[in-house]
Amino acid sequence: MAGLSERMVALGSARSEIREAFAFAQARAAEVGPENVDDFSIGNPSVPAPESVGQTITRLVAEMDPVQLHGYTPAQGDPGVRQALADELNARYGTAYDKDCFYLTVGAAAALCCALSAMGCPGDEFITFAPYFPEYKVFVESAGGRLVAVPSNIEDFQIDFAALDAALNPSTKAVIINSPNNPTGVVYSEATIRRLGQVLAEKSKEYGHTIYLISDEPYREIVYGAEPLPWVPSYYANTLVCYSYSKSLSLPGQRIGYVLVPRTVEDFDLAYAAIAGAGRALGYVCAPNLFQQVAARCAGQTADISIYHRNRDLLLDSLREMGYTCAQPDGAFYLFPRALEPDARAFCLRARKYDLILVPGDSFGCPGHVRISYCVPTEQIQRALPKFKKLAEEYGL
Ligand code: PLP
Repeated sequence: MAGLSERMVALGSARSEIREAFAFAQARAAEVGPENVDDFSIGNPSVPAPESVGQTITRLVAEMDPVQLHGYTPAQGDPGVRQALADELNARYGTAYDKDCFYLTVGAAAALCCALSAMGCPGDEFITFAPYFPEYKVFVESAGGRLVAVPSNIEDFQIDFAALDAALNPSTKAVIINSPNNPTGVVYSEATIRRLGQVLAEKSKEYGHTIYLISDEPYREIVYGAEPLPWVPSYYANTLVCYSYSKSLSLPGQRIGYVLVPRTVEDFDLAYAAIAGAGRALGYVCAPNLFQQVAARCAGQTADISIYHRNRDLLLDSLREMGYTCAQPDGAFYLFPRALEPDARAFCLRARKYDLILVPGDSFGCPGHVRISYCVPTEQIQRALPKFKKLAEEYGL
């Protein structure tokens, strides 16, 4: 292999199981017609961006100086945009952030890469909770660290604190959480977040160095429960928030998000400088300006998430009635029921007989389960229910 990085060749050549399932669904749709294929593989928002997004773009293009609109902003983002994002969060959570706490990025993926690279030193361990978003492993290893996956409580997918305690050690640099969660849809309770904050504060003291908490929150606004989502930095001072508008505003292709470094983070100036340094080193400077401006004007709004809520209720209630077991998913747009046999991959292959496309939990570090991505038209769920039923009957339910 002439002069290429073996790791990058491997990463670029391997297709994830999610992509493989999606490609299979596309191929089947071409063969038998899309109306016969029920693809629940991919997490691409199915609800359009709110009208205000299109209106804002039209206004910006008509009214803003084009040289400015299409020009570079400072590496960390337009100061006015960053202040608008701070103001919006402050109004919502009673916080006191300012523009200098924000570093704008091309989506949550880049926000995570910046946060991880900002703190990753050789030998560092980053803990996350299985099941988890598979790219965490890629991002952590790119930052020079090692991902340690700690199993969650299998019944409700809250944190198993005994397992966390066993995994924490002086090499732990950070813990990554994702609530609402991909792939389970589970939302961490206030008790879970509070206890996590206490554990990390105690362990930071014991080890004599800060353990950071990276809160990956692209699904923050997509919640269905009665309880408001706990604002994580209020429970743990050394929290970095990685956010994007991909899901809340249905803008995944526009690549806009941020890292928020609260001023409560130890050595704030250095921490923010490290984020900016990571952005520079990774080439993640000056996120797309048009969508910086859109984010400033549309932050706090959401696409019509009532559609996801309806899908969640229909699918969850129906699957439970059929005998499937599924933890309560109060956010995002995923269900993570138990497969009906121990080998989730075999189960997903069986589902394909009905052109029902699911993703095995093995991809997320949690075998024995499947991910169902329900950001699809409600009619697709209605059409797929008899298929789920027939599949259940094959297993004697
Ligand atoms: N984190 C999680 C848990 C996700 O599910 C995703 C995307 O699906 C991302 C991060 C990346 O989001 P973005 O599209 O904003 O880069």
